[in-house]
Amino acid sequence: MSAAKATSGNLFADDPAFQVTAQTISVLPPLPLAGPYDYLVPEGISVQPGDFVEIPLGRQTQRGVVWGDAKGDVDSSKLREIYGVLPAEPMADVTRKFVDWVSAYTMAPQGAVLRMAMSVADALEPPKPIFRFTLNRDFEPGSLRLTPPRKRVLAFLGDYPPMEQGDILRETGAGASVVKGLVEAGAVQRLMVTPPSPFDAPDLDIPRPDLSPEQTEAADALCKRVDDGGFSCTLLDGVTGSGKTEVYFEPVRAALAQGKQVVVLLPEIALSAQWLQRFRDRFGVNPALWHSEVGQARRRDTWRAVADGTAKLVVGARSALFLPYQDLGLIVVDEEHEHAFKQEDGVIYHARDMAVARAHLGNIPVVLASATPSLETLANVEAGRYQRVELGSRHGVAVLPSVEIIDIREDKPERNRWITPTLKKRLAETFANGEQAMLFLNRRGYAPLTLCRACGHRFQCPNCTAWLVEHRAWGKLQCHHCGYQAKAPDACPSCGAEGKLAPCGPGVERLFEEAVETFPDIKVEVATSDNIMGPKAAAELVKRVHNHEVDLLIGTQILAKGYHFPMLTLVGVVDADLGLAGGDLRAAERSYQLLTQVAGRAGRGERPGTVILQTADPANRVIKAIAAGDRDAFNEVELSQRMTHGMPPHGRLAALIISGKKENEVDEAAWRISRVAPRGDGLMVLGPAPAPLSLLRGRYRRRFLIRADKGVKMQSLIHEWLSKVKTPGSVRVQVDIDPYSFM
Ligand code: ADP
Ligand code: ZN
Repeated sequence: MSAAKATSGNLFADDPAFQVTAQTISVLPPLPLAGPYDYLVPEGISVQPGDFVEIPLGRQTQRGVVWGDAKGDVDSSKLREIYGVLPAEPMADVTRKFVDWVSAYTMAPQGAVLRMAMSVADALEPPKPIFRFTLNRDFEPGSLRLTPPRKRVLAFLGDYPPMEQGDILRETGAGASVVKGLVEAGAVQRLMVTPPSPFDAPDLDIPRPDLSPEQTEAADALCKRVDDGGFSCTLLDGVTGSGKTEVYFEPVRAALAQGKQVVVLLPEIALSAQWLQRFRDRFGVNPALWHSEVGQARRRDTWRAVADGTAKLVVGARSALFLPYQDLGLIVVDEEHEHAFKQEDGVIYHARDMAVARAHLGNIPVVLASATPSLETLANVEAGRYQRVELGSRHGVAVLPSVEIIDIREDKPERNRWITPTLKKRLAETFANGEQAMLFLNRRGYAPLTLCRACGHRFQCPNCTAWLVEHRAWGKLQCHHCGYQAKAPDACPSCGAEGKLAPCGPGVERLFEEAVETFPDIKVEVATSDNIMGPKAAAELVKRVHNHEVDLLIGTQILAKGYHFPMLTLVGVVDADLGLAGGDLRAAERSYQLLTQVAGRAGRGERPGTVILQTADPANRVIKAIAAGDRDAFNEVELSQRMTHGMPPHGRLAALIISGKKENEVDEAAWRISRVAPRGDGLMVLGPAPAPLSLLRGRYRRRFLIRADKGVKMQSLIHEWLSKVKTPGSVRVQVDIDPYSFM
């Protein structure tokens, strides 16, 4: 820390002999500003990098983190003093480096990234102390008046360790004034204790399950990475049901045994009730959970416990990466291929990639697990940057399901029906055998589009370039992008015709209707994000399926991942072509991954499973690859196509999204940006073009896509480009490095 000379406001400021030497520092507030600001440290206060401090900022009081030495860009006589240091654990070096790294990579302001690392404001307050009461053994009873309640309290405290007031009152039936009186008389002592960590230490003595030879080999390889220490990135590449979780629990245990903290990132943590139970079985404790459904008080306690190192085991969504770990020893990213790891708002980042960066900065191992690894990760394995550990078969007697393809152009469902005769027959057989089935359709609601048969009017969202989706259960039309809702009308708003509105295409609600009509005697249940909205609902669903209170489960992608239902033997994919329609860079890859995951729900127990894909395009290579179970062949073709076009993982992409409420301003800004677009070898700038979602939440949107060869420094290129243009404050320019969404 530099001790620059600064003239504080004293009378002799002009006299060098009287100049006070003050420490100057830079402080980063968690705000999307340019960067850290310089401050003075008042005499008598000492600060270290990483300390949380209170500072004046404009006319407000802000909290920030001491980022390091003053930058010196402002004359020290103009600097303001920090107000003080907060009594919180300082932010670790590695966390600050990580914030800087993420900021540089994503091109988001440092303070915007810091905000993710300081997401719980009141965690910086000292924890509220708790009081316990105990007998004063030295007390001479002498003149103490012993009323019956007093006697009960004294007798109770004589038998127990120090107790909180609530417990004393409940157990003795005495009032609070009794305890107070005893304390005043000196018979009872009040002790102030720091609240215990809400997280128990994991139990490392629970024996590991019998792992198969293949699993043992994989687990040992991963444990070795932990024992060897240092950075490594390993892909745990195992088919669905091969026991990846059981396997990565072993390196988790190894890191915990070293006294380190571990974080496991899951894409749909809020729904992972089944998985959490396995965690409890293996480690005997609840891990510290971190996701958007965790309540405020719990977030605060968790944040503190991660900072003071008492939360050893954290399981969370992507934001868990930004917790203030004191001593992180291992990161696991489960389902690493999942697009849910990409955050699309605010700081736009991919948590899997940031996890690798975090591991690198912390010099620790990271494990990426998947049955369908992303092409990016596979390319890194090929290049030798990541290592690979494989699990080729399902655990125990379970085998991978067989896949059948139904051409819906030949095996036609009835009009306004979606289940083909063959699938219907297979469902009937499954139910007759006492087994369960699942129908997968990645469309919430009743119908994706509502149309007037008289005039052709289509119901569109007023804020977005999107159709309104009918949710018949609520009697509403809803936009799945912005949440706009309207009551489903009886008459067409355009031509006034009554009774002419028709649903087009299927959603899960409509499929439910068909299933109930087709199989009146079976129990059908729909599971989508509309009705399975949290861990409790998910846990209850799992229970119902396990208890066989459900024969047929109809659902969207929330059913694709992780669930293990041993009696589920048939999975029907109602529209296997759905994901291929969008046609973006990763449509085929994503569709392949999703269908493989869905298929992976079938036949996980002793009875073998079947997957039926209904398609109008049986020759499509995604469909063919899934039918053949040939992931490598699919990936090879996919990779070679990407290579031909210089697309990731062979080249780099970035997107600019220009948006605003006034269309002409957005177009004007996009035009000005395009005039100074960079040119060069190995570089291509496309756009500006209206985004496919050219209107989203009331904002007009234009996009640029930048493709560059691997060697090109994308961030500096964009930085230089954008520094040449001034755009009005009403227009937002977002940078998306490595875009996954092209909408
Ligand atoms: P994946 O994540 O690879 O799809 P899981 O880890 O979910 O596979 O394992 C599939 C099922 O097999 C789970 O119910 C799991 O508990 C069980 N399983 C896997 N390995 C073992 C083992 N060695 N001993 C007992 N059960 C196991
Ligand atoms: Zn909308």
